Amino acid sequence: MHKEWKFATKAVQAGYEPKPGEPRILPIYESTTFYYDSTDYVAGLFDLKEEGHMYSRISNPTLDAFEKKMAALEGGVGALSTSSGQAATTISLINVCQAGEHIVAASTLYGGTFTLLSVTFKKLGIEVTFVDPEAEEEEIKAAFQPNTKALFAETIGNPGLNVLDFEKFARIARDKGVPLIIDNTFATPYLCRPLEHGAHVVIHSTTKYIDGQARSVGGVIVDGGNFPWDNGRFPTFTEPDPAYHGLRYVETFGNLAYITKARVQFMRDIGLTMSPFTAFLLHMSLETLALRMQKHSENALRLAQYLEGHDKVAWVNYPGLKSSPSYERARKYLPLGCGGILTFGLKGGLKEGKKFMESLKLAALVVHLGDTRTCVLHPASMTHRQLSEEEQRIAGVTPDLIRVSVGIEDIEDIIADFEQAINKAV
Ligand SMILES: *Cc1c(COP(=O)(O)O)cnc(C)c1O
Repeated sequence: MHKEWKFATKAVQAGYEPKPGEPRILPIYESTTFYYDSTDYVAGLFDLKEEGHMYSRISNPTLDAFEKKMAALEGGVGALSTSSGQAATTISLINVCQAGEHIVAASTLYGGTFTLLSVTFKKLGIEVTFVDPEAEEEEIKAAFQPNTKALFAETIGNPGLNVLDFEKFARIARDKGVPLIIDNTFATPYLCRPLEHGAHVVIHSTTKYIDGQARSVGGVIVDGGNFPWDNGRFPTFTEPDPAYHGLRYVETFGNLAYITKARVQFMRDIGLTMSPFTAFLLHMSLETLALRMQKHSENALRLAQYLEGHDKVAWVNYPGLKSSPSYERARKYLPLGCGGILTFGLKGGLKEGKKFMESLKLAALVVHLGDTRTCVLHPASMTHRQLSEEEQRIAGVTPDLIRVSVGIEDIEDIIADFEQAINKAV
């Protein structure tokens, strides 16, 4: 890959570079294991002294190509694909944090992530303090403890659609000596590259825009290679690992320490592995990421403007609208567009919203976002259902809130569908 290639070129060309006579398109290496004729070589693979694939729980050539492309697009040094976005969040955090330690996270998170951190991590002995991402820097810093090991947030909050103040979060992470780990699912690297704004690790639910066509659940972790793991706070990176005969990650792998450790400790031991077929689909989907994100963003802005001008609509939230509290920040961090997700509420409220969703003909009511087809969802009764009313309020979920994932159909058809459904509901 040419380092100086621009985004869309990397999206098409990076990751897989066939040699003469090899398949033009990335093959699906549907093989659990790999053939060798030397026991010493395989022993070297086990000891991480040789490079190569050994067993597909740990690495696989199809996954490797997808990971290389994701790392290129986010501007990272390496990546690790996972079986889901939840798996990516889990591994990205337990790679730096263990029982008895602590994480600070923004309160405006995907409902599944909030439950993972507040309920399941607690069972694993990891405590999480949630902070309002709009709070003053000093207030967020006050949530840190001596055992805090990571700061976690989303580029665009789900479903509050608040754009993260990267400058503030990067400064807090730097001052506190912990990595800033960002869920960039809503923005994708086409619209925002958190590593360029001070983040150290980026994760995705590839299930959404990276796949883009609602086919496969998956996730990925990208390592920025830019965190000083030897700052004294991360002994598991600098002290010998007994599982590898006393290997020290920073000393042996340098700026690839984080992603290598995630793979050889946690992917090896827990096995939240992506299938080669999924990696094949994602590697190909990325070829059109730039085109798709342009169209999703353009359609969402048009739909948001239409809804804002509608007298039966109570409110609209989209970071690309001047009325959004995140408008200025979106101009700074999302200059190419704000993606395909918007939220709104109808006059009246919950009852009218339900009738609206059930009256749509083109847009479907599904638990999903980020694919080519326009879809709607009601977070209070669906994705954020497990949260208490107070937790929902903190996460930005009101009872009347309808979340729309705007697809890449012709915008006139999407608007016509919304128009007829609004008129049935209100
Ligand atoms: C969907 C989603 C996840 C979880 O990903 P899965 O692939 O469903 O496990 C995490 N973060 C965000 C922002 C999401 O939208």
